[in-house]
Amino acid sequence: MKIITRKEALAQGLKRYFTGKPCKRGHVAERSTSAGCYTCRKAYRQSEEGKAASKAYMQSEKGKAARKAYAQSEEGTARALRKTLGLAPPSEYIEAVHAGRLIKRELIKLKEQNL
Ligand SMILES: [Zn+2]
Repeated sequence: MKIITRKEALAQGLKRYFTGKPCKRGHVAERSTSAGCYTCRKAYRQSEEGKAASKAYMQSEKGKAARKAYAQSEEGTARALRKTLGLAPPSEYIEAVHAGRLIKRELIKLKEQNL
């Protein structure tokens, strides 16, 4: 993996970077320019404290607004449609997500093929 400093990653507009150095908890892992070591983040999310914080966020106004915005986004719409149609995430679905506006059309096509 390419070794890069956070400053360089920010200058290049990257979200992830790798310093090759251990974090304060000793993980030699990729880091997020906004939230630090990914291994630390994962451990935190799985901790009781992290789960409680996540639950509190989901119930907060900010969390509700973020969920609503996601549900109305192209990706959120595709996810909801896929769930409704009971589709597994095939490569077409993932490509559709990346293609943004093509999502709905692609999923409707998949639905028609399934019915
Ligand atoms: Zn760490």
